[in-house]
Amino acid sequence: MRQFVLCLLVLLSTIVSIQAQQPKKLNASEIYEAVQKLNVLASVLYIAAHPDDENTRLISYMANHVKARTAYLSLTRGDGGQNLIGPEIRELLGVIRTQELLAARSVDGGEQRFTRANDFGYSKHPDETLKIWDKDKVLSDVIWAIRTFKPDVIINRFDHRTPGRTHGHHTSSAMLSIEAFDLANDKTKYSSHLNLTDTWQPKRLFFNTSWWFYGSQENFEKADKSNMINFDVGVYYPTKGLSNNEVAAIASSQHLCQGFGRLSQRGTQQEYIEFLKGKPLDGSNDLFSGIDTSWNRIEGGEAIGTILKDIENSFDFMNPSTHLPKLIEGYKLIQNLPNDHWKSVKTKEILQIIEACTGLYIEVSANSPQAAPNSLIGLRMEVLNRSNVNIELASYNISTMTEGVSKSLSMLPNQKLNFLEDVIIPEDLNYTTPYWLNKKNDIGIYHVEKQELIGLPETPRGISVDFNLIMAKTPITITKPVIYRYSRPDKGELYRPFEIIPQVSGSISDKVFIFENDQQKEIEITVKAGKENIEGYVQMAHPNDWNVYPQKQKIQIENKGDIQKVVFTVIPPKNQSEGLITPIINIDGEYYTDELIEIDYDHIPFQTVLMPSVSKVVRLDIDKRGNNIGYIEGAGDVVPESLRQIGYNVTIIKPDQIAPKNLSNFDAIVVGIRAYNILDELKFKQRFLLDYVKEGGNLVVQYNTSRQLKTEQLAPYELKLSRDRVTDENANVKILKPEHPILNFPNKITADDFDGWVQERGLYFPNQWSDEFTPLLAMNDSGENSKKGSLIVAKYGKGNYIYTGLSFFREFPAGVPGAYRLFANLLSAGKEDKTQLKN
Ligand SMILES: [Zn+2]
Repeated sequence: MRQFVLCLLVLLSTIVSIQAQQPKKLNASEIYEAVQKLNVLASVLYIAAHPDDENTRLISYMANHVKARTAYLSLTRGDGGQNLIGPEIRELLGVIRTQELLAARSVDGGEQRFTRANDFGYSKHPDETLKIWDKDKVLSDVIWAIRTFKPDVIINRFDHRTPGRTHGHHTSSAMLSIEAFDLANDKTKYSSHLNLTDTWQPKRLFFNTSWWFYGSQENFEKADKSNMINFDVGVYYPTKGLSNNEVAAIASSQHLCQGFGRLSQRGTQQEYIEFLKGKPLDGSNDLFSGIDTSWNRIEGGEAIGTILKDIENSFDFMNPSTHLPKLIEGYKLIQNLPNDHWKSVKTKEILQIIEACTGLYIEVSANSPQAAPNSLIGLRMEVLNRSNVNIELASYNISTMTEGVSKSLSMLPNQKLNFLEDVIIPEDLNYTTPYWLNKKNDIGIYHVEKQELIGLPETPRGISVDFNLIMAKTPITITKPVIYRYSRPDKGELYRPFEIIPQVSGSISDKVFIFENDQQKEIEITVKAGKENIEGYVQMAHPNDWNVYPQKQKIQIENKGDIQKVVFTVIPPKNQSEGLITPIINIDGEYYTDELIEIDYDHIPFQTVLMPSVSKVVRLDIDKRGNNIGYIEGAGDVVPESLRQIGYNVTIIKPDQIAPKNLSNFDAIVVGIRAYNILDELKFKQRFLLDYVKEGGNLVVQYNTSRQLKTEQLAPYELKLSRDRVTDENANVKILKPEHPILNFPNKITADDFDGWVQERGLYFPNQWSDEFTPLLAMNDSGENSKKGSLIVAKYGKGNYIYTGLSFFREFPAGVPGAYRLFANLLSAGKEDKTQLKN
């Protein structure tokens, strides 16, 4: 019992250590589990499309119960979703979700792979998905994953037979998996892979089905299950003190930016797997039936299996180091294996066990978290043997140095060895940044030049140290990446990856600057030093018809990490125009144009990302009426800031301020996205908003989802929301009422105003309304009926009620001129007469 309590305590501390990003150290139970896993030669590849698609119950069951090498291949990094914990979107959201997947895998024991596919947003059909992704490249990457991971079985999360029923990315992931299963063993297909790996034929392909795919539990109960196997994944792990479903829930709860924190579950739970392809199961309930998953499957493996079985049977939880001689024997046999694949997989596993058995503590910490090429950095090495086993430290090699450092020191039990080394960061060392962001991506795919990088979750670390040890007369090399260890009084000990950054980087205060007239604006650039004593100057690249002054400004920063701010005056042209600006920093003739973005959350390691420092400048040809806009916030959008950029005075109306006396002074009131889904107060206060319209006000309501509306009276007249959406941002827009004031005053809206939209046209359009409403636009995705609900208006009393599912909240931050012009018209509705009076 004492041992059991001890296990739990250590387990708790490992869960905490995920938060502090401390390198994992195995305790005795974990070493035992690792020995069991070392003795299994089975592998499973689970395939789906996004971070959070994966069934962590099944992944954990395969990794921890079956003890198979288990990986999740997520075709995308989830760049297209929304971020519930911070401001990062698109590429930066993909970086966060990549790390959340890695955090999930470190809990459930799986590995993580990707393809180059970019999550470009919602897709209705796999035909569209595969066209935008560049099917050939993504298929190549799925085959690459199969050829390098070499799974015995593949399990799809989604059904390849039901296109259109779920997200097009989902169905595509299953379709590509089916195709790849048939091609991975064909030497003539994607043969450039074969310079780096060989072909592979997985034995079976399955679909991880559930009642969801059948519409209801009832349908699923009645379904033909003759082609399915099922097993109970609700097993309990005494060595962890957790049920499989608890491990799975902790893993899923790492997806915090998607709001996936959730309750854990226990008890029996069936998982259903449908056989699709490969060697038939012959009535067995075992995914691996007929596949030898022991060491006997490879030449020279049998003796290793015998040694490991002995260690398992006699495992000493109080002193695992007693198994070292046998482990070293196993290690030597693994080095002689003719099978390179298993040799490499199992070498990594057994080295981790050898290190943990002897309580080895080896760490290399830099004296600063970041450094630029050509600068000097201090490395502090701590090497400690916490067992009674004889170990010698023969030497260590720092990856940036050509020669190793010879030591020949005996590592006496619990006697710490410390070494300090000063290292110059080589000039040609790559910056620490996600490798898939090095080149500009297309909407559907990232560009990666090196085949060996494709699919890796992260960029391999720039600097590491090999520690060459001698144990039982056998040379053993343990490799450690350089990290940065520090403490904070309010948080305790913390770890960060050590990063290589440019000597200087520059960022612009905003991503989009809207010029509503020909007035100049001051734009601030922040220059940050990645090195001491930076001196040079900064200029601003800009479009030809724009002007910027001064031409250049001097930069002088003494300390690494410090910043200097400079302000440029930007003068727009007379007519509508858009373009890009970029700060160019010149240090001794070298030009730097990247921005250094830092991502810091407790549940994932600190991330730095280098991206081109670019902002959009837009000179609008825009006219507007009215000035005071009230804004009722919904699920969060940047519409208020965007309206301020074009000169409106925007006041946020809190839900408790929605009262007649507070509304009458606004020229228009805008309701934020999904406000009627999330603000309980609107159930009672909607009548004040409708009264405001009746008295001559102008209410603009942005999209809400059709389910769970807080009020039945969304509009003054009958209005029914649907799930209609137009996902093609270039879909043709037909103007239904060219003479309608909203399309003419104060800005004449034409087809040009629908150019350059991003991600989508709009979503959750109404599909039924009473005669009082006038639909103004029609649009549709290809192959679908025309949809007229994207923008509808009705007179009510003396005012105007406008409902729009157009994605203004996406177009504004992207600086799309037509979106601003059309929105200005919505806000100006009903002001025509007053203007004439004024004139
Ligand atoms: Zn998904």
